[in-house]
Amino acid sequence: MSANIVGRFAPSPSGYLHIGNLLAMLLAWLDCRSLGGELIFRMEDLDPARSKRAYIDALAEDLRWLGLDWDRGWPDPAYAQSGRTAHYEAAFRTLREKGLVYPCWCTRSERLAAASAPHPGEAEHDGSCRCARLTPSEREARLLTSRPPAWKLKCPDETITLTDYHYGPISQNPARDVGDFLIRRADGVFAYQLAVSVDDMEMGVTRVVRGRDLLSSAPRQKWLIETLGGTAPAYCHAPLLTGEGGKLSKRLGSLSTQELRRGMKPEVLVGKLAFLCGLSEEDRPVTPQGLLADFSWERVKREDVPVDPVFFR
Ligand code: GLU
Repeated sequence: MSANIVGRFAPSPSGYLHIGNLLAMLLAWLDCRSLGGELIFRMEDLDPARSKRAYIDALAEDLRWLGLDWDRGWPDPAYAQSGRTAHYEAAFRTLREKGLVYPCWCTRSERLAAASAPHPGEAEHDGSCRCARLTPSEREARLLTSRPPAWKLKCPDETITLTDYHYGPISQNPARDVGDFLIRRADGVFAYQLAVSVDDMEMGVTRVVRGRDLLSSAPRQKWLIETLGGTAPAYCHAPLLTGEGGKLSKRLGSLSTQELRRGMKPEVLVGKLAFLCGLSEEDRPVTPQGLLADFSWERVKREDVPVDPVFFR
């Protein structure tokens, strides 16, 4: 095993894994194993309201059933985001000391209104708001008297560039293209962008493989990691499987692994995923191990892949 390559699975237990998640995890596994790397399984149970025990248990079971193994991580609690709050607190303090964090008292509807104009697709986008323009003394006064605020990160007004391993060069000016975003909610729960950056940095992750829907988060995460004194991983995004209404999501439970497992052998499912993404020329059963010898990102499609649910029946 190469100590220099560290990959990760980082699912959120807010639903059962669906075939889109599985494709990203299969590719993360192939990427890491083909390089002789070490693989981490991190449980992204950051949001207590959405993380369910049944989903947590199913995640590990589904990965094992599929033949995807890992070297460290879940069920070790050190790899569950719910147990890593102290790490996020420390990063939050560092960013606050650097003057990069400010409290925000906007209501949810004000935030949504601010977010809706330029970038409707970005759920976490939050715009810069009037709270960013409070003077230090106004801010102090409000912190003493108002309800607990959420916390936002002041985005850098500079161009961040990186080369995605699969999609090539991307550049983003977070202040202009994304706007200040939440890193901690008013109820104290840390937000995805902060937690994932801290985890990738502290766990020594060198390669992040995940769905293309997170491509636009990569520049911010790179910037956060470097601002916290770490080295950003290489990012490698994977095409999405799309259904009729766009990207497949956990809400389309009918293509969840839990359901597919009832009527299908794992190698049949892996074979279908490999065929859909371009790794196999035909739809035939294969194990993840069986895909390793010929694995190359060159063969993986870049465009998203429309899926007819009938293909999985
Ligand atoms: N936990 C996220 C998800 O399940 C993925 C985070 C990441 O890979 O950066 O969508």
